[in-house]
Amino acid sequence: MSRIPMKTPLVEMDGDEMTRILWAWVKTKLIEPHVELKTEYYDLGLEHRDRTDDKVTHEAAEATRRLGVAVKCATITPNEDRMSEYKLKKQWKSPNATIRAALDGTVFRKPILVPNIKPGVVSWKKPIIVGRHAYGDVYKNAEIAVPGRGKGELVFTGEDGTEKRVVIHEFCGPGILQGIHNTEASIRSFARSCFTYALDERVDVWFATKDTISKTYDASFRRIFEEVFAQEFAARFKAAGIEYFYTLIDDVVARVVKGEGGMLWACKNYDGDVMSDMVASAFGSLAMMTSVLVSPDGCFEYEAAHGTVQKHYYKYLKGEKTSSNSMALIFAWTGALRKRGELDGLADLSAFATRLEQASLATIADGVMTGDLARLASPPPRQVVDSEAFLDAIAERIG
Ligand code: NAP
Ligand code: MG
Repeated sequence: MSRIPMKTPLVEMDGDEMTRILWAWVKTKLIEPHVELKTEYYDLGLEHRDRTDDKVTHEAAEATRRLGVAVKCATITPNEDRMSEYKLKKQWKSPNATIRAALDGTVFRKPILVPNIKPGVVSWKKPIIVGRHAYGDVYKNAEIAVPGRGKGELVFTGEDGTEKRVVIHEFCGPGILQGIHNTEASIRSFARSCFTYALDERVDVWFATKDTISKTYDASFRRIFEEVFAQEFAARFKAAGIEYFYTLIDDVVARVVKGEGGMLWACKNYDGDVMSDMVASAFGSLAMMTSVLVSPDGCFEYEAAHGTVQKHYYKYLKGEKTSSNSMALIFAWTGALRKRGELDGLADLSAFATRLEQASLATIADGVMTGDLARLASPPPRQVVDSEAFLDAIAERIG
């Protein structure tokens, strides 16, 4: 059987532990038999990051800017335990943070739906995609514990020395103060990433803030989204038959829970932190959650939302069977292959990505699944399989 050729290589970022094992199996069992896979390979495994003083992560991010499409395995973010486990020179930064900073991107998380895993919210029929602004607000704040009577003020001093000053509160006793910020540039690129992603996926965008209360801070988010939409996206949205919808945060929460899904929910940083965990849990499993980083100028990095599944890896090392589910990793590869196919005009490559997704979904729909899903499935599974057998079952179903 002839394999599908590629033009431009994908940026391939290998990772750690169980996901590194699954990564190799996904390639050899599901992709390479059908595609003449071309990748520019970067080993982001912790040992190699340490050996290169983390240069490899920066090179991989640069390659993503250059080639436009990357696929990333899960990687360890080192902490104290990992320092001794891997005898590291330094507690290297999270690769995801490095790549996000280099691409100035927004992360979009989308659940994979199958008919026999029902969402916790009965009205949900289509995926709810959460796009989280990953800069500023309470995550980059300054706080003061107020000891007693006194005046709390907000002060801005311009480069030329001019001052803006407002009283926050006249304290009669102990209390607390918090200062937060954001930048026009960051909000603008967040808006662009959301609208770009929505066009790509042909879904509506919902955005909400509390601008009735926060008449400068949240109102700026609303204004910037409206400007970016009107100036750069309105015509393309109309042509694609999709909409931009703005409302208040409490209203949007009610609408999301009562609705059937199928939209991109753009969230301010804190809203996204809280709501993405709610949406992920209600849809079932982290192993069924895909994640893509989209830069405002249209670079794409596909990954799984889960980590390296450390506990399963230690079982694997002892020669035991594991129940790791590779769906999110498979969908990271198919997302990247489909996008590469679109950009390079390779319809066969994009069609293969869809075939592989359909084979994966059909496997679970047929009642063949790993342990994490077996607990959630209705009707109960026909066959609970280990990590490798699950991939073999998918391979048999690729048409
Ligand atoms: P994790 O790898 O997401 O795993 C936590 C638990 O979730 C697992 O023990 C397993 O539960 C379940 N799980 C996650 N993915 C699964 C899958 N594909 N199939 C089946 N079950 C799955 O999180 P962690 O153990 O807290 O973190 C491990 C390492 O991952 C850390 O070093 C962290 O830095 C890193 N991490 C990386 C990324 C990334 O690169 N994107 C994201 C998060 C964490 P059971 O044990 O109940 O089976
Ligand atoms: Mg969270």
